[in-house]
Amino acid sequence: MPMITNLQNDLMSLHYIFCNYSILVVDSEKLQLPSDEIVQKCFEHQVVIDWFGEPEYQYTAIALEDDCPAPAGCKWIPIRSLFVKQNSNNEAITRAARAHSILKWRKKHRYCPHCGTQMQDDKFETARTCPDCQTHIYPTVTPAMIVLVEKDSEILLARHKHRNNDVYTCLAGFIEAGESAEQAVVREIREEVGIEVENVRYITSQAWPFPDQLMLAFKADYKKGKITPQEEEIEEAMWFKRDNLPAIPKPGSVAWKLIMGEL
Ligand SMILES: [Zn+2]
Repeated sequence: MPMITNLQNDLMSLHYIFCNYSILVVDSEKLQLPSDEIVQKCFEHQVVIDWFGEPEYQYTAIALEDDCPAPAGCKWIPIRSLFVKQNSNNEAITRAARAHSILKWRKKHRYCPHCGTQMQDDKFETARTCPDCQTHIYPTVTPAMIVLVEKDSEILLARHKHRNNDVYTCLAGFIEAGESAEQAVVREIREEVGIEVENVRYITSQAWPFPDQLMLAFKADYKKGKITPQEEEIEEAMWFKRDNLPAIPKPGSVAWKLIMGEL
């Protein structure tokens, strides 16, 4: 099914409107989305920098210019909060994540990486095509893994140096070219804290559209070695009992679910 862009009357029934990393809502509790009138006003005021509709999913995704004020009767909420308040398998949230990821992907693929010609939306599927050399690019999904290491009744949590360094969380990283997800788990743990694990097992996955990650969640059992934090990345790593946890990531993330024992 093609992605249709910039054609009048192609607005779908659901409107996902984004600015920076926020989404526009009328009511955040029920994820009530803006009406047709609000969408029209955004176009009239020329604050729309990109948009597309996907008939298959009956939504329109719209990106507004940075720091755009919320139209009357609406408010911006962080996209991340959708995952906190509601079940992230909810269809409306899945579509919001898709809409946001694809908008970010379109922004990165305006020009052909081979010949520099302006890319166009493909006529038949959700992809970008170069009219000159026919290079074809699909929306990007970047696989990453997150792992909870367990040792008897304790779990391993780390505080990172460069990101979210006010919380202790699971180890995580991107899967490298040529690796399986399980190999990435073993490598990241070895690199970041210098220990060996066994019994690596897949638990679940979560789309994390900031901008395009697919988080694959694992658990692993401690095997041997002394915790030795990687100097450049890890501020501190240690074992915790679940009844005496430090500050951890906010609810909704797969990290929070792993840490709280919900998975
Ligand atoms: Zn090209």
